[in-house]
Amino acid sequence: MLAGFVLLLMTPAGSCDPGRARQSEVQAASMIQASAAKPKKKKSKAGFTKAQYKKHVKKLKKTVPEGFTVLLQEPFVVIGDEHPATVKKRSKSTVKWTVDRLKEDFFSKDPKHIIDIWLFKDDASYMKHAKEIFGDVPDTPYGYYSEEHRALVMNIATGGGTLVHEIVHPFMDSNFPACPPWFNEGLGSLYEQCMDSDGHIWGLTNWRLAGLQEAVQNDEVPSFKKLTSMDENQFYNEDKGTNYSQSRYLLLYLQEKGLLVDYYHAFRENADEDPDGYETLEKTLGVDDMAAFKVKWESWVLALTFP
Ligand SMILES: [Zn+2]
Repeated sequence: MLAGFVLLLMTPAGSCDPGRARQSEVQAASMIQASAAKPKKKKSKAGFTKAQYKKHVKKLKKTVPEGFTVLLQEPFVVIGDEHPATVKKRSKSTVKWTVDRLKEDFFSKDPKHIIDIWLFKDDASYMKHAKEIFGDVPDTPYGYYSEEHRALVMNIATGGGTLVHEIVHPFMDSNFPACPPWFNEGLGSLYEQCMDSDGHIWGLTNWRLAGLQEAVQNDEVPSFKKLTSMDENQFYNEDKGTNYSQSRYLLLYLQEKGLLVDYYHAFRENADEDPDGYETLEKTLGVDDMAAFKVKWESWVLALTFP
């Protein structure tokens, strides 16, 4: 479910390096008070034992080419061919940073499997090793998730945005397996451009805005009823170009209103009765006329800026 749409994960180089975002994008999100506060530690349910990690790493090392650094960054393993200090820094400042904050607000369970995060230093390394290690010819220059190999395969030279996006999916899969694609991709893409806000992950406007604004102006954005009811085939294969961005900017709206985290938990808890999250969305927003809400949301979207 995660491998077929990697072309849509395009991210301009350098976006969503959380540390960088904090420095450069505070103005773009003036309502946010950035802070270096660390989130509280929470124990993950269904975590793996030390012995399981050890066994996994031992087996993994047989496939890791020479010159790569292998680091355990629970619940993932990070493998990279940049300078060992750089791999370590990315492991901490992007992978751990993201995992800590996603757990803080959304996810109590770790992914079902130990997933390897391969950080290839440039396009040449990425293409070469995707082929040699996984037998893949990537159709995206940024990175992708291989469900078959339980691996995130990243060209890390293009920035950390896609990596943060992809980290959301295995957590969603273990915490909210029935999550429909609009919310799964909306949350992943929300954090392609993000920063820390008082120990919480905070999405910012990004490159997906321009296309959405154009679609709004051309009156081409479907109703939220239609968006939220899309199955995987409709969402991924019949995308008119706005499914990701409409989802993303709906979640950004909820975030700005302080409703996103509550919405996620209410959605998950009520998913048996409301699998699309549509009724929960109406309740969370406190609206009964979603057409009128869409008009309001669209004018909010048109007023956003990026960069
Ligand atoms: Zn995704």
